[in-house]
Amino acid sequence: MQNGKYILDLNDLQYKRIILSGRRRSLHLFLWFAGTVAVSVLYGTLFERSFGAPKEQRLEQEVENMKLQFSLLERRLDNSLTVINGLKLSDDIRYRPVLRMDIIPESFRNPGFGGVDRFRDLNGYINSGMMKEYRIRVEEIRNMVNVQEESFRSIKEKATEWIREMEYLPMISPVNVMYRRGDGLKFREVHPVYGTPQWHHGQDFNVPYGTEVFATGSGKVIETGYNSGGFGNRVVIDHGYGFQSSYNHLSSIKVSEGMVIKRGDVVGLSGSSGTSSGPHLHYQIELYGRVENPLYYFNDDLTEDEYFEMIQTLSSKSKFR
Ligand SMILES: [Zn+2]
Repeated sequence: MQNGKYILDLNDLQYKRIILSGRRRSLHLFLWFAGTVAVSVLYGTLFERSFGAPKEQRLEQEVENMKLQFSLLERRLDNSLTVINGLKLSDDIRYRPVLRMDIIPESFRNPGFGGVDRFRDLNGYINSGMMKEYRIRVEEIRNMVNVQEESFRSIKEKATEWIREMEYLPMISPVNVMYRRGDGLKFREVHPVYGTPQWHHGQDFNVPYGTEVFATGSGKVIETGYNSGGFGNRVVIDHGYGFQSSYNHLSSIKVSEGMVIKRGDVVGLSGSSGTSSGPHLHYQIELYGRVENPLYYFNDDLTEDEYFEMIQTLSSKSKFR
């Protein structure tokens, strides 16, 4: 019974060996082979359905990983947006109003990147929608950063200009404020020397003879010497930006015409030269040729110590000493 197959012959109830022809043998072989393949495919499909093929598993893992990366990216985008919005806020409510600059319009900061299909290259993927949304957000943030950067550049420029301007404007008291007499610009019923009603065009300080008088802003000395119109020995400084300041009735002058000086430099010593009833400093400010009330141009609540501390600080910064 080892080789070949046997069949029961019902006529004589004997087992008889069947000899298969070559063709039938091939057919049997083929059927056996086909059956094996069919079973394998069936098993394979069932296995994939329940556990997934190794390659698919890897892809799935990659997709999960990408989703994680995207959610991290999203958090980082949110953080960037918070930071940018903080910068924008200080831009809008602090720097620009203080420097009297226009606020940047919202439409300029956020022109909108949706609408037109700018990211066609991302079409046709499973996650096209999500990827486009990210690209739009990234573009928006990039634009906001660019606008903010440009804004800060112009703010810095303006601030530098202001700092320079501040240095030149006559913005401190020429002598210790405790010597201030009266309230600057006013109409005087009786002039102390002429005895007639007259406008007083400056701020007087009752300083003792020989007190140091300081330049109230940086600038160029445009006039020194004796003024026969009543101011006596005087120094006039041109500060630029339309401002001039003058220091009158001095006993001596410490600068010369054409000198460029810094705020806090000594321009002269006080006295009583010219039309004066006693030692004092007459300090005057003009803006485009019109007298200004000097009281608006300095802080008059400094103590003596604070005032000299300020002068000292200014002197140490001066390049001219
Ligand atoms: Zn005066």
